[in-house]
Amino acid sequence: MDRHLQRIGEIFRAIDSMYTAALNHYSFSCEGCSDNCCVTRFQHHTIIEELYLAEGVKRLDEDKKKAVAGRAEEVVKIHNSSPDDMRVMCPLNEDGLCILYEHRPMICRIHGVPYELHKRDMSIEYGVGCHRFMAEKVTEGLKYFPLNRTMFYIELAKLEKEVRGHLNFTGAYGKTTAEMVLSILRKDQGTLERACRKGRII
Ligand code: SF4
Repeated sequence: MDRHLQRIGEIFRAIDSMYTAALNHYSFSCEGCSDNCCVTRFQHHTIIEELYLAEGVKRLDEDKKKAVAGRAEEVVKIHNSSPDDMRVMCPLNEDGLCILYEHRPMICRIHGVPYELHKRDMSIEYGVGCHRFMAEKVTEGLKYFPLNRTMFYIELAKLEKEVRGHLNFTGAYGKTTAEMVLSILRKDQGTLERACRKGRII
């Protein structure tokens, strides 16, 4: 596997490990949550996350790819005709579970518990947890767990810069998971990957 994909795997494993430590600290779990995060319209901002997701998508069998593509088309249609906060299930979720859990994007891994982000001007931005966390945990007087996202964002940004450099890509990138899936399976089928191979990324 290419070193860029390996690197994002390492970053994601570090995120997963810190996230698990936070869950343990708060004795918090997503299990049985009726407010599934996978209905949130998350935007992803890195090409490397799409490439990593593509690694998972290409391992799906043809029938599954067809089903996922059909759902992704529906999701994009709904998103395009609805307000930004419209909640619709991600095309990669089946029966409440992510079918590409190992390859899911960063925000899917890190959303849910309170976090902090250290800014260049030395200020610290604090983020609250998800609805369920706030409803269940905030009144318990728990000691704060400093889930610091800063290093993860910096490492991902460094990696993305390298990838874009190889691709000579200077534009903006912002896609929902449904759009990523369609890029991988349909419209640009293989285009990004071929470009990456040419640029010796994969
Ligand atoms: S990629 Fe997986 S974890 Fe992320 S929103 Fe979709 S189904 Fe949920």
